[in-house]
Amino acid sequence: MTKPNTELHNLTIAELHSGLQQKQFSSHELTEHFLQRIAQLDTELNCFISVDAERALMLADEADQRLANGDTADLLGIPIAQKDIFCTRGMRTSCGSKMLDNFIPPYDATVIARMQQAGAVMLGKTNMDEFAMGSSNETSYYGPVKNPWNTNTVPGGSSGGSAAAVAARLAPAATGTDTGGSIRQPAALCGITGLKPTYGRVSRYGMIAFASSLDQGGPMTRSAADAAVLLNTMVGHDPLDSTSAHAECSDFTKQLPKSIKGLRIGLPKEYFDQRLNTAMADKVHEALQQLTALGAELVDIELPNSALSVPAYYVIAPAEASSNLSRFDGVRYGYRCENPTDLEDMYTRTRSEGFGDEVKRRILVGAYALSAGYYDAYYRKAQQIRRLIKEDFVKAFEKVDVIAGPTSPSPAFALGAKQSDPVEMYLEDIYTIAVNLAGLPGMSIPAGFIDEMPVGLQLVGNYFDESTILNTAHQYQQVTDWHQRSPID
Ligand code: GLN
Repeated sequence: MTKPNTELHNLTIAELHSGLQQKQFSSHELTEHFLQRIAQLDTELNCFISVDAERALMLADEADQRLANGDTADLLGIPIAQKDIFCTRGMRTSCGSKMLDNFIPPYDATVIARMQQAGAVMLGKTNMDEFAMGSSNETSYYGPVKNPWNTNTVPGGSSGGSAAAVAARLAPAATGTDTGGSIRQPAALCGITGLKPTYGRVSRYGMIAFASSLDQGGPMTRSAADAAVLLNTMVGHDPLDSTSAHAECSDFTKQLPKSIKGLRIGLPKEYFDQRLNTAMADKVHEALQQLTALGAELVDIELPNSALSVPAYYVIAPAEASSNLSRFDGVRYGYRCENPTDLEDMYTRTRSEGFGDEVKRRILVGAYALSAGYYDAYYRKAQQIRRLIKEDFVKAFEKVDVIAGPTSPSPAFALGAKQSDPVEMYLEDIYTIAVNLAGLPGMSIPAGFIDEMPVGLQLVGNYFDESTILNTAHQYQQVTDWHQRSPID
């Protein structure tokens, strides 16, 4: 055992893999190291809703056994934090809600099952906005997560627990889900790398549904190279998810070393207009300069309907949510109110007491948009806009290989700053939401700091072309060290 323990949390997944293979440390030691960091630092940060140390160490011991038998799987023995939206057999899955505070799933989500087969060690379940609704992690029943770069600020949301845990090195990597930006925006605000795959790439089986036509799970890591390794395990057709794609899944690490000479990067004029604050615009332009120095070409493009993406999303996502969340009625599982007088009373009080304000707001908006009298005016219209947004991207990708821009309008904001103004909060996702509406893959990578807070560069790829954005991100990370900066030793 030659590696000093203090360094373990700074190693990349590839380094951890080789350390485990060469028996420099065991998965048990590695897992213990991260559990200790969680015990030390998470009281303040609040990244985790549940940590089961005993279970984690048992998984680590199983991994050590497999390692001893010569198994070389990429994630074998590597601790991973899972967003608390993925069902885990025998371990509470709360989705950040009082409604599921007592819910212990009888089965694993496909993402969890695949990671487990690969030998990854689940450290615990990460904090999130309630039912993944939010951009700041402040709607969680378990209290807000603190951004490790400045604990008075938010980590972004809804996968804020995962983002903050990876940034603070409480886990080498984590999973997230992204319905309108929830992987990319917290990745940007916490200075990590987050990838939302093409819709259908990663199975949604056992991933608690928010808006089923938009939800997509993906990796949250420090680097693009680590994201590629995680993605390899997460993807693939799943007969248990009817929207899961039959797309080919080649090894996502293969294209990483390729030169990006001649890569055409599209800059949507709508993302760089006067609404983008100048400090953020400067950072994005600096990053683009680095990419051109690596041989990429910048191409001006247009996404004329992008201004409509936030309003269309806030009809479609709540509509789907209102339908998905109807299953939480106190009958089968989850919270049930005390002493109901009759069925009606049980439904009403269970849902009034079990859901938080933001979830209720979405259910109301969604039920309204879907009601017979308003369906054509709102829901159908929003679906038409969605089609136009998708067509804008299809047209743009005839001219370019990647689309780039900011991930979020600004760096992390103060806790509480936007809580009383939902529209202001919704605008956090102005650059990310169109990608979900179109079903495209997108990622956010660390691209510098404004006032000591991290900012992200967003890269959007064509359908099922995660490899090209991973390649672009990896090449950028070869000439920059933003992704290696750490808020905590
Ligand atoms: N912030 C957006 C919302 O509140 C997106 C959330 C997400 O991607 N899960 O709906």
